[in-house]
Amino acid sequence: MDKIQVKGLKVFAHHGVYPEESAQGQDFFVNVCLYTDTRPAGIADDLEQSVDYGELSMFIDRYMKEHTYKLLESVTENLAREILLRYPKAVSVKISVSKPHAPIPLPFEEVSVSIERSFHEAYIGFGSNVGDREEYIRKGLETLENESDIFLLRTSTIIETEPYGGVEMDPVLNGVVKIKTLLTPYELLAVLNRIEAEAKRDRAVHWGPRSLDLDILFYDKLILEDEYLTIPHIDMKNRTFVLEPMAEIAPGFVHPVYGKTMADMLNELKEKG
Ligand code: ADP
Ligand code: MG
Repeated sequence: MDKIQVKGLKVFAHHGVYPEESAQGQDFFVNVCLYTDTRPAGIADDLEQSVDYGELSMFIDRYMKEHTYKLLESVTENLAREILLRYPKAVSVKISVSKPHAPIPLPFEEVSVSIERSFHEAYIGFGSNVGDREEYIRKGLETLENESDIFLLRTSTIIETEPYGGVEMDPVLNGVVKIKTLLTPYELLAVLNRIEAEAKRDRAVHWGPRSLDLDILFYDKLILEDEYLTIPHIDMKNRTFVLEPMAEIAPGFVHPVYGKTMADMLNELKEKG
C-alpha cells in the first residue's frame, strides 16, 4: 500500500507522568505514516484526492497541545484514533511519538512508543424472539450505532425463521449488520454483551427465548477460537438465518475457513434441504 509520511515533526506539549512535565512541557517528535492509495491523486495531480500532509501536521500539533496525557501510549493511541476518523482515505496509520528529554537520570537518545492501527470490518448477526422483537432489534442497532468507535455500514432485511436447536418457542427475527470499527474482537464482544444485557436478555435456557442476541459472525478475515470467542461464528453453514442476510448484503464475501462465498454457502444449504 502507498504511504504518506511526516517524519520528525516537533511538537511542544505537556504529556508526562511527573507534575513538572505537565506543568513545564517539553519537545516531542512525531513520525506518522498513513497507508492510503495515492494513485488517484497522483494521476489527477489533485490535492483534494489525497491527504494534505500540511493539514495533518497542523492537526497533530494542535491535538497534542490541547490534550494532556500521562503516557506516550495514550498520546499515540488517541492520535491514531483521531487521524483515522479525520482521514477516511487512510486505510491504516502507523505513528510513533518520542521524547528526547524524558526524565531518566542516565544518558539516552530518546524514548518512544510506536503503534499501528486500522479500522476493521465485521458482520454482526442479530436476533430476537420474545416480546416486541422489532423494537428490541431497532433499539439494539441504535445503541450500536451510537457507540463512538462503531459505524454501521449496511443492514440486511430482517427475516423471520423458525427457532433453532429444537426448543419449543416463538419464531425468531434475524438479520445481519456490517460495521466498521476500531475495537478489537474482545472489546466488540463486550459491547455486544452489554447491549444484550440492556435488552434484559434471558440467559436461563441455552437456545431458549431471548429478547436480543448479538453475535460476531466475521471480523475481517480473522480465524480465532478460544474460551470467549469463536470467529467466524460457529455452525454458520447450517444456519439459513445467518446465510440469507449475509448473502443479501455481502454475497461475494468469502468465508475464511471454508473458502466459499456467502451466496454459494446459502445455495448449498438450500440444496441440502
Ligand atoms: P448463541 O449466540 O450461541 O445462541 P449465546 O448468545 O448465549 O449463545 O452465547 C454465549 C457466549 O458465546 C458469549 O458469552 C460469548 O462469550 C460466546 N461467543 C463465542 N463466540 C462468539 C461470537 N463470535 N459472537 C458472540 N459470542 C460468542
Ligand atoms: Mg450470542
